[in-house]
Amino acid sequence: VTATAPSPRPAPSSPALAPSPAATPSASAITWKPNVGFSFTSDDGVSRADRSFIRNALRQAVRLFPYPHRVDARKPTVAVFIHSTNGEMTRPNEIAEVRTQSIHVFVGTKGWRGAGPIQQRQAMFHEWVHVLQQLEASAIASPVWLIEGTAEWAAWDAMARLGFVERSDIRAFEVQAARSIDPDRRLRRFESQAFYEHDREGRNYALAYLAVDFLHPRRGWRTIIRFYASFVDGWQNAFADAFGVSLTRFYPKFERSRAAGFPP
Ligand SMILES: [Zn+2]
Repeated sequence: VTATAPSPRPAPSSPALAPSPAATPSASAITWKPNVGFSFTSDDGVSRADRSFIRNALRQAVRLFPYPHRVDARKPTVAVFIHSTNGEMTRPNEIAEVRTQSIHVFVGTKGWRGAGPIQQRQAMFHEWVHVLQQLEASAIASPVWLIEGTAEWAAWDAMARLGFVERSDIRAFEVQAARSIDPDRRLRRFESQAFYEHDREGRNYALAYLAVDFLHPRRGWRTIIRFYASFVDGWQNAFADAFGVSLTRFYPKFERSRAAGFPP
């Protein structure tokens, strides 16, 4: 995740933590119960404040996106590495990234240093959603804009659930950022790693957020996680099932909305 993100509001002093209970006891086998462990490793140069902030935000993320649903006696462990330098960063302008069952945070970067606590917390939630995507659908490559867009959408949604931000403020910010992307750069083109290229300001993340918002995940973050958990017949079928539209039909609809300036 890059550092570009809005911080429309100061954090309330005591955000209510209320992960909503599972809505429907439907046919799904999903048990929304957190079951994951962390191991934390920090470079010597990492401050105590950064360390405890990251630890706290990720533990909060687990409760906001309770994992796992698979019946698995083994509790997955996610390794968190907090780096004081940029040496191990794979892409420039990042503040954090996810590798195989691990999260890397680069607290020495300008991006992290320049971000406020809202952006930093949202970034940790974003990475946590990537971990869920990986645990649920590890081997299948789905479009990059969708991976980033669902992480971005679910992370801001979680910030809104906690009362840190208003959804309408986030959307307005993302619309503003996405409007400055060359209209010839269609969303479809960001199925590939091209998503990450020539995007110092992270505007492609805004476009991806709006694409997911346009999909209207009916049950919010649960729809998103369920989508990643249902790749058995390929992600294309899972997409249509989760969002009620095929990707082929979605693209032109979204581009029309985009051309109209993303009306609500
Ligand atoms: Zn990401």
